Amino acid sequence: MTEKIKADILILGAGIGGYAAFKNLAKELKKNNIKKTITLLDSNNYFTFTPLLHEVASGSIEPGHATIPLQELVYGTPHHYIKATVEKIFPEKNTVQTSIGNISYEYCVTAIGSGINYYGIKGAAEFSYSVRTLRNAMILRSSIIEKLESCDQELNINIVGGGFTGIEVAGQISSLASHDLKKLYPKAKINVRIIQATDKLAPQLPPQAQEKIVARLNKMGIKILLNAKVMEVKACEIIFSNQTIASDFTIWCAGVENLAGYMMDASFCERDRMPVNNFLQHKMYSNLYAVGDIVCGNNQNETTTYPQIGEAAESQGLYVGRHIVHTLMKKKIAPFYFKSKGTLMPIGENYGYNVFHNGFVLSGFIAWWIRRTVYVIFVPGFLRKLKIVLDWTLNLFGFRYTVDISGN
Ligand SMILES: Cc1cc2nc3c(=O)[nH]c(=O)nc-3n(C[C@H](O)[C@H](O)[C@H](O)COP(=O)(O)OP(=O)(O)OC[C@H]3O[C@@H](n4cnc5c(N)ncnc54)[C@H](O)[C@@H]3O)c2cc1C
Repeated sequence: MTEKIKADILILGAGIGGYAAFKNLAKELKKNNIKKTITLLDSNNYFTFTPLLHEVASGSIEPGHATIPLQELVYGTPHHYIKATVEKIFPEKNTVQTSIGNISYEYCVTAIGSGINYYGIKGAAEFSYSVRTLRNAMILRSSIIEKLESCDQELNINIVGGGFTGIEVAGQISSLASHDLKKLYPKAKINVRIIQATDKLAPQLPPQAQEKIVARLNKMGIKILLNAKVMEVKACEIIFSNQTIASDFTIWCAGVENLAGYMMDASFCERDRMPVNNFLQHKMYSNLYAVGDIVCGNNQNETTTYPQIGEAAESQGLYVGRHIVHTLMKKKIAPFYFKSKGTLMPIGENYGYNVFHNGFVLSGFIAWWIRRTVYVIFVPGFLRKLKIVLDWTLNLFGFRYTVDISGN
């Protein structure tokens, strides 16, 4: 291997965890006048706020609202962004092999997230849509519109997976169908259904929360199919052990694939995630950190693995930023501790469901508004925040974005 680029601090992946690490590191390095630079690497030249992608898929917000160009993030700082794909991490050599060559590092933060798990189900990867990336979300939206343009008829949209993501996606698609598409394509009949392998939706939530969610989904006309294990997905059908249903759009929201196994030797991984200590350092290499979905670890004196959610990724990223700077200054820092502030879940347009950590439950417009406000707070820059808030406010009075981009 030829050593091409040398990085003081290398961040692999600029999603929720990587971006939070970058933000805090840049701030702390400047504050403490430490002359180290950060190299932020991602295969896309933009940051994606994944929790908003189903709203991009349903045209409720524009792609630019869920993304930030990474060159803009590093502009005016001594830090750099590199567009490249991570191929393999060699922690024993402090080196990462990427699509543009090898990069050696002093400190490395791994934040490449997770992928989609199709559990080896025949046809699932081939014939399903997803909302995992910006491209996926835009393809889904455009494909629904394309289908409606080519034939004004009945459309069956099935969402596989009744966890948070599946419920959020179903709510958004149903809102799109029952408002804008109903007006623009009056002959179309769009059926939305959630398919869940077990007997409950959102099993992580308390029973009264589950009941409220089911009541809301029923009110929106979304069908729910429980105890239904998908055996095979075809272009226009989903096959179960006891029945086959028509499916023009199968949207896969059923599982997370852990990626560490593709990036590192198996001896450095645990359950295809990166095993970390209480400081989020790799258990064998203290200059290699992990944040976000790739982490395999738990709070001190607890056994539950950190959840694979944006809130955990952000808080881990912020912590690692501080930890690296403290290490450079030869100072000690308390171990990382993750405590969730609660669950914020939108179900369709202008309706949300929040369960706070103290058990307080809020539903309706205010809950939906809180979730969007949390995002606006997260986004950097006053002008960007203002633009998003103005656009969202104006969008309340107009149609959603229903352009079919499949043409030339
Ligand atoms: C549709 C959807 C809705 C969600 N809703 C919520 C929600 O409401 N609340 C919540 O808390 N969580 C939610 N989540 C989960 C949340 O998005 C993830 O837990 C979080 O994004 C994980 O952060 P991360 O930094 O680990 O990875 P990500 O945010 O996924 O970022 C990973 C980054 O790494 C880059 N990357 C990946 N592989 C490579 C490679 N080989 N080389 C270079 N770059 C690479 C990607 O381009 C990406 O920028 C949702 C997830 C999905 C899919």
